[in-house]
Amino acid sequence: MSDTPMVAMHGVQKFFGSVQALTDIELTVAPGEVVVVIGPSGSGKSTLCRTINRLETIDEGVIEVNGVRLPEEGKALAALRADVGMVFQSFNLFAHKTVLENVSLGPIKVRGQKKADAERRAHELLERVGVDAHAHKMPAQLSGGQQQRVAIARALAMDPQVMLFDEPTSALDPEMIKEVLDTMTDLAKGGMTMIVVTHEMGFARTAADRVVFMADGRIVEENTPEEFFSHPSSDRAKDFLGKIL
Ligand code: ADP
Ligand code: MG
Repeated sequence: MSDTPMVAMHGVQKFFGSVQALTDIELTVAPGEVVVVIGPSGSGKSTLCRTINRLETIDEGVIEVNGVRLPEEGKALAALRADVGMVFQSFNLFAHKTVLENVSLGPIKVRGQKKADAERRAHELLERVGVDAHAHKMPAQLSGGQQQRVAIARALAMDPQVMLFDEPTSALDPEMIKEVLDTMTDLAKGGMTMIVVTHEMGFARTAADRVVFMADGRIVEENTPEEFFSHPSSDRAKDFLGKIL
């Protein structure tokens, strides 16, 4: 296994006007590692994810994905972005494309795959996340949990090196949360490098190699889930856990 981190963030600062959303971020994620990011609303969790695939620029610092520094723009940025899969709270599927097209169009357009190959692979991935029976439907005909699993399949179709999840179950009805978390757990067990923002503490306990706790744009503490949940060291983390557990 290589020593190169899959994701490395050093000295990252991000401002929105006068609001500092990220302060002095130092974070490295090893290949195959699953990092769960938790923290109160407004603590910078989404911004952290969005800077890693360059949906947001940074004001200072360095971000590297698998040893490659994030380029500013152009083809190199498109290539880099294709290596970083992202799944959002709102599934963001193309509403006017079928499920199969949602999963196969990226590989055809961005990776230059042949249609037949991309569709075969899309069916495999849809099967893997348990929704291949719906391949020819439109997204709106699926439940929220099914749509989110399509979104995961769509991200996987690009063969990403790392997957970012920003509160992937927050918009789902309770009965659908488990099916999405189970899909993510399978992915984690399969060795995918993952950064997951979630309020699902059960998932954090069972699937995370490491928990990163953020408050006010900073990483306040990070630890194994066992240590973090049983012995949070900062007052911010104690306060947060007291409110949610
Ligand atoms: P979280 O995901 O932990 O709730 P965010 O990363 O969304 O936190 O937000 C961190 C801070 O940055 C908040 O103060 C938020 O209001 C601010 N922020 C996030 N996105 C923007 C934006 N596009 N424009 C202005 N401020 C923003
Ligand atoms: Mg957020």
